Amino acid sequence: MAKAAIPRRRVIGSAVGLLTLGALGTQRLRAERSLPRDDRAIRPPGAVAEALFLAACVRCGLCVQACPFDTLKLSTGKGDSPVAAGTPYFHARDVPCEMCESIPCQRACPTGALVSTLADIDDARMGVAWLSSPEGCYSFIGAARCDSCWRACPLQDSAITMQQGRTRLGGRFTPTVNDQVCTGCGLCEKACIAVEPAITVKASRDGQPAPHHA
Ligand code: SF4
Ligand code: SF4
Ligand code: SF4
Repeated sequence: MAKAAIPRRRVIGSAVGLLTLGALGTQRLRAERSLPRDDRAIRPPGAVAEALFLAACVRCGLCVQACPFDTLKLSTGKGDSPVAAGTPYFHARDVPCEMCESIPCQRACPTGALVSTLADIDDARMGVAWLSSPEGCYSFIGAARCDSCWRACPLQDSAITMQQGRTRLGGRFTPTVNDQVCTGCGLCEKACIAVEPAITVKASRDGQPAPHHA
């Protein structure tokens, strides 16, 4: 039996619908790319460069579900949730990334928004920690011999060292981050004993570089 002909108006309507959806998608991506950057909203390990990430991430939340530490959240796109709605991020001061060896968030991602080539969590580049508020650091101002950030770091003495020497504010030690090694996990930021953390992670939006170990 011959198939019933699809009314021409419906075909045109569908084509217009698809074009509209495509235009809306493009508009959405443009709008998302112009969102103000929140430098402390950190993408999960293995995230590709931001523009690619926004196109690849289907907002499924599987990475969030896979994270055993409730580190990751899906953005609501409002208030304290400054990245594009539906996309995953974390704030280190709330819950940092525990640098799981098996990287379950990345393994759960079905689209490549979190690259599967990240084989070693030590190669993740989610961001970089820095002494953003030296005047708030107990060691830097000489108020106490604190090394909480250094102790918390899983890559102690390679990602972060306590450099000895008189500081400009009268202290004797400066927490010093090696930005070539720091993963941006934020465990140092979480561990900072100051009310407002003196050391914070600046999120990377540049995407995952090639793994160091082939
Ligand atoms: S590496 Fe582990 S702790 Fe970090 S975001 Fe992924 S699942 Fe969560
Ligand atoms: S699993 Fe991948 S596609 Fe799904 S929300 Fe996470 S990053 Fe996006
Ligand atoms: S963010 Fe802090 S704890 Fe994590 S690797 Fe970098 S220096 Fe170490």
